[in-house]
This record gives sequence, C-alpha cells and structure tokens, in this order.
Amino acid sequence: MPAGLAPGPRVGPSSGAAPVTMGADVIVVGAGAFGCNAAWHLRRRGLEVLVVEAVDRPATQATGAAAGFVAQFSSVHHSEWGEVEWGMQRYGIGFYADLAGRCGRDIGFCPCGIAYIYQSREGWERAQVAIEAARALETQLEALTAGRASEVVPEIRFERTAGTVFDPTAIRLRAGDAIAALAAEVALQGVRFEYGAAVEALLGAGEGRIRGVQTSRGDFVSSRVLLATGAWTRPLLARVGVQLAAEPVVVARYTTRPLAGIRRQMPMLMFSDSEHRFWIRAERGGLLIGGADPKPLPDDRRVDAALPPFVHQLPGDHAIRMRENVRKVEDILPALKEADIDEIKAGMPCYTDDRLFAASAVADVEGLYVLAACNEAGITHGPALGRHMAELITDGETELDGSRYDLARLSRG
Ligand SMILES: Cc1cc2nc3c(=O)[nH]c(=O)nc-3n(C[C@H](O)[C@H](O)[C@H](O)COP(=O)(O)OP(=O)(O)OC[C@H]3O[C@@H](n4cnc5c(N)ncnc54)[C@H](O)[C@@H]3O)c2cc1C
Repeated sequence: MPAGLAPGPRVGPSSGAAPVTMGADVIVVGAGAFGCNAAWHLRRRGLEVLVVEAVDRPATQATGAAAGFVAQFSSVHHSEWGEVEWGMQRYGIGFYADLAGRCGRDIGFCPCGIAYIYQSREGWERAQVAIEAARALETQLEALTAGRASEVVPEIRFERTAGTVFDPTAIRLRAGDAIAALAAEVALQGVRFEYGAAVEALLGAGEGRIRGVQTSRGDFVSSRVLLATGAWTRPLLARVGVQLAAEPVVVARYTTRPLAGIRRQMPMLMFSDSEHRFWIRAERGGLLIGGADPKPLPDDRRVDAALPPFVHQLPGDHAIRMRENVRKVEDILPALKEADIDEIKAGMPCYTDDRLFAASAVADVEGLYVLAACNEAGITHGPALGRHMAELITDGETELDGSRYDLARLSRG
C-alpha cells in the first residue's frame, strides 16, 4: 500500500481507537469532488462543518483520476441530461473559473472550449437532433467550416471529418489539483478536516436518527451527516439496510509526454460518433486520452461493489487498450501517432440506469444525506450538487427539483 493511504476507506470492524467526540453542525464524509463542493457551500451558509476522510489528503480517488472536462454536456453528449443539468453545468463552469482566479494555485484551468467531432456522415446527420436540442438550451455550438476549423482546432485534419461543432464556453482543469485547492480554501474558512479517519458505522442509523459517525480514529458527533463517499457509498448504505442501485466501473485514462504541435489552448476533443467515444485534451504539452470499450464491459473494469478497492489497486488495462484504439483516429489527429503512455490513472465512477445523480435525504434515517452516483460527471456537476445539498441540509428549500435526484428511485428492490 502506498504511503499515506492507510487505513483506507474500507467498511470494516472498528479498530478500537480511543473515542473522540468532536462535534459539528454537519459531518461530510469524503473529501472528493462531491464532499469538498458540499463543504464549501455548507460553510457559505454558516454551518460548522467537519469533513471526515479515510485517506490522508483530499481528491485522491475518482476525483484524482478525472479528466477535468467541464462543459455544457446536456443533450449533445448525453441525451439523459436536459435543462436542469444544463443550469448545473453552467454553474460549474463559473464556479471553477472563479476558483482558478482566486486560489493562487495552478489547477490546470484553461478556458479552451470543446469540439465534438463526427467521423461518419451518418453520425453527423444523426447528431443534428441532439445539436439542435443543445442549441435550444443556449449552448453556443458553432458548426465549424474548414476555414474556422483551421483557426480553432489546427491540430485536427478537418477534411477527414464529416462535421465538427465547437462550444467555446467549456473549460478544463486538473481535477485533483482543483479540488485540493477547494479543500485548502474551505479549511481557511474554518471547515475542519479529519484525515485518516475511515467511517465504519453510522451512529444512530439503527434507531432512525443519525447521531454521528464511528471511524477508525474514534467517534464524531452530529445530528446531520452527508455521505459523499463515491464508490464506497453503496456498502456504507447497505450497512443500514438502504440500497443504492449505482454500479462502480473502472475508468482509466492516460497522459503522454509533451508532443510536437499540441497547443495549450487546443480545445478538448470528443470523438462523438466513434465506438470508443474518445475524449482527448491537452495536458502539460502532451495529451490526456480516454475513451469507452465496446460492450460487453471487459472483466478488468468490473469491481466488487460491496468492497471497492483503492484507486492504486485498480488495473490500467483500460488505458492500455485505449492507446491502441486511439490509433483509429490518428488520421484526424496526427499527434496521436506518437501518443504513447507516460502515466495511467484510474478511478471508479458509479453509474445509474437513468444517468442521474443521488443527491437527497435518506428516507427513514433522519439527518442522513447522500451525494453519490456521479455518472462520470461529478467534477462538472459537483458545484451545483454541493449547493443543492447545502440548501437541503440547512433549510430544506432547494432551487433544483430535488425529486429528480432522490435516492428513493435507486433504492427500490
Ligand atoms: C478516468 C476518469 C475520468 C473522468 N473524467 C471526468 C470529467 O472529465 N469530467 C467530470 O465531470 N467528471 C469526470 N470523471 C468523474 C469524476 O471523477 C467523479 O464524478 C468525481 O470525482 C466523483 O467525486 P466523489 O467525491 O463522489 O468521489 P471520490 O473522488 O472517489 O471521493 C470519495 C471520497 O470518499 C472517501 N471515502 C470513501 N469511503 C470512506 C469512509 N468509509 N470514510 C471516510 N472517507 C471515505 C474516499 O477516500 C474519497 O476521498 C472522471 C472519472 C474518471 C475515473
């Protein structure tokens, strides 16, 4: 086990550590994108917040592996996301732009825009409905001409594509660095972080009223607990008899060494009608590359949802396959010819059938809340979901229609 990862976010028996009885208005469990965004918004509403995190620092798990695409994905990238998510995506873009401006750290922020590339005429024609729907939401999708493509994305050979649309409002960031910066900011604002404290039990859940959490470093008390524990939310809820129908799946991506001809401002690229739906962006002079496997899901991407491993225990096979698969589009992006693997990172986003999040109170356990089921989009939607949870926890009134993300829909047998 790498230094700093003990004791780990496993749900296991108590280590018998000396009890601590630190209290807070609300305990947020997990210091990933969801937990830190929730902590920021809760603090802004004046609450005393304690973040309890199993490992020794923030943003190490799915958040540390994320590719950092933040864009108005509604309808153009995912048909399941509509107007509600569109507003959340817009909030996320603004939130991270502000964070980049004020945090004084390099979080890899770049307002580079995003280009959706279609390789086949059929794919391009089929996409028109989704493109029009996105435009109806006011996403600024510009269909590129050859002349504009040579200005906006000179890295690609436009003549090898069937069509490309460009959204200039999208941003990219290094998600792990951005969320670590957010954690540092909320710590300065008075949010307390208890690292190396793996939650093992939810105190009071059996009696229907949360009293706090039992961790590997003792107990922490609060009448409100928010679980923002990524892939580990499902086993934690299972312990109190609550089902969460969200499947953790291994997603790996890789970065290359610096490559000739890749500009820092290169828009993020989505190969939207490729069977692999490659997503590629500039990173430190090279590229960051990921994509999908055709179905069925290979075994190396499956994990035991009841006992999810740490990210450092995840295999990188998915990224190794992508290195080979991405050769299929090197006629469009010639830099891919040299795009060998320098570093692989993997995480476990959790997917729901409806591709929507779990962001609600837990019925039957007063004071227990959940923010999970990220559907591989928790960086983008994290700020708005964090705001939503802060509203729900402080006064119960939320701007978003909470029923859309109610855990109950994922808890039916
Ligand atoms: C390869 C890859 C690419 C991605 N690209 C993008 C992208 O471009 N854009 C985007 O929006 N999203 C992207 N995502 C998705 C994004 O990473 C996730 O949606 C987001 O990080 C989820 O954050 P989280 O806080 O829920 O989970 P995590 O980051 O996993 O955080 C959960 C935290 O809870 C802690 N924890 C767990 N159990 C316990 C316990 N018992 N006690 C205490 N602490 C505990 C863990 O240690 C961890 O720190 C990508 C994901 C991957 C893997």
